Amino acid sequence: MSDSSSIRKDERFDVVVIGAGVIGLSSAYHMKSENTDLRIIVLDETGAAGQGDTAKSAGAFRNVFTSDVNRLLAGSSIDFYGHIQKDLGFNLDLKYSGYLWLLADKQFRRLENVVESMRREGIQLRIWEKKDLKDMINGVNLEFGENDEEAGIIKAENVVKGLQGIKCGVVSPDLIAKFYEQEFRKIGGTIRYNTKVGSLLLEPRARLGIPSEPLIWQDKKISGVKTAAGTIVADTVVVAAGCRADRLLDPIGIDARFRPRKRQIFSLRSPKIEALLNTKGFNEYDMLPFTITPRAGVFIRPEPTERGFWVGAADELGRSFRFEEEPQAERDYYTYSIYPVLSKYFPQFMDVSPTNMWAGLYDVNTLDAIPYLFEEDGAIVVSGLSGSGIMKADAVGRMVTALYEKKEYANLYGGKEIRVARLGINERDVGIERFVL
Ligand SMILES: Cc1cc2nc3c(=O)[nH]c(=O)nc-3n(C[C@H](O)[C@H](O)[C@H](O)COP(=O)(O)OP(=O)(O)OC[C@H]3O[C@@H](n4cnc5c(N)ncnc54)[C@H](O)[C@@H]3O)c2cc1C
Repeated sequence: MSDSSSIRKDERFDVVVIGAGVIGLSSAYHMKSENTDLRIIVLDETGAAGQGDTAKSAGAFRNVFTSDVNRLLAGSSIDFYGHIQKDLGFNLDLKYSGYLWLLADKQFRRLENVVESMRREGIQLRIWEKKDLKDMINGVNLEFGENDEEAGIIKAENVVKGLQGIKCGVVSPDLIAKFYEQEFRKIGGTIRYNTKVGSLLLEPRARLGIPSEPLIWQDKKISGVKTAAGTIVADTVVVAAGCRADRLLDPIGIDARFRPRKRQIFSLRSPKIEALLNTKGFNEYDMLPFTITPRAGVFIRPEPTERGFWVGAADELGRSFRFEEEPQAERDYYTYSIYPVLSKYFPQFMDVSPTNMWAGLYDVNTLDAIPYLFEEDGAIVVSGLSGSGIMKADAVGRMVTALYEKKEYANLYGGKEIRVARLGINERDVGIERFVL
């Protein structure tokens, strides 16, 4: 079957999904599996599943959040991914290798109450003493003398504790996308790659043949999409176009409610850092968890298949909101921003340079960093994944399905329910995320 076969003029489907990233594919799969009679087509301008920001992700996941919505979305999605791998036998390269926050005194005190309340709700957390961390993590530097000028300049704080999230770890976003793609096709879903949606079709519900329709007094509806190969008419258009959603929604006056912001990952390989990969005591894989330093949100993600690490940082103030067609990683950003912090806490990274690097865009919801999901005149918009779309994609796909079916509640994997309007605009109710380090 050819994915790029040409489209007849005015094809008709029940649902068009724009975007074959994790969000679009999870949504398409769940909608179709709820009602296999539905005619659903997924369109993507790239040539394969998950080639947008899904492919740029660090593929890390965690259920450690203070917002109950975040815990529900991520927790149930992680359980579903675990089920795919363990029970369905589809390898996602998922490892519950943990998240490890190295905490300075102030951070730890601020989090103490939050940690207790999360524990009461069943989130598995483990606190490590500084001594344990020193014993377990090869060569880690947790304390800096007063005469350490470099540490003073970058304000490297002493680590007092480690906080480990247990149901956290790493997964392959590519394999998650492939799983949904495969399952969607098995039940009769259609996917067309190399097909760019140029615009959404906004039409009057009853066309009169007057110039400039739809006019302000006409009932109107998004009734499909235009592509270079023709028009596809549909009752519902799901806009799951990631950081490009505003390009489709702005022209018809719908606010996608996110700002694009670049994030970068640097891949490092060297015999000097290999010993750090094999860190015992944190998990069954004897590997270092996804670890975050107290300063500047610098993280290191073990990548055992490459015998190395992926490294990045959470840069916010100073990093512009800007759409870039092909965002590029900046070597200087590694050298001058990340490296000084990284090599201070993990001296084995000293003089190690990236062998590979890439960048993508976060679709940042600047209000609360939790996804938006709303319906507007024939379009279902899912946006603002804010850098955690992989770990929430299954739950978001189920919520898109519930919204499409006009259900008040979505059933998440594992049996919990969530009111769909909680992610919407008018009745938004997502709690407060305080677990931002
Ligand atoms: C550097 C980086 C690290 C990240 N790390 C993590 C992480 O560790 N954990 C995590 O959970 N999340 C992470 N994320 C976030 C995660 O990658 C995203 O939240 C997630 O991929 C969003 O999926 P999506 O389907 O919404 O977007 P995308 O994967 O971008 O999919 C949108 C698709 O729509 C298609 N499209 C857009 N416009 C059109 C059009 N007009 N016509 C046809 N097709 C169109 C695109 O080609 C694309 O394939 C990271 C992101 C970045 C950039």
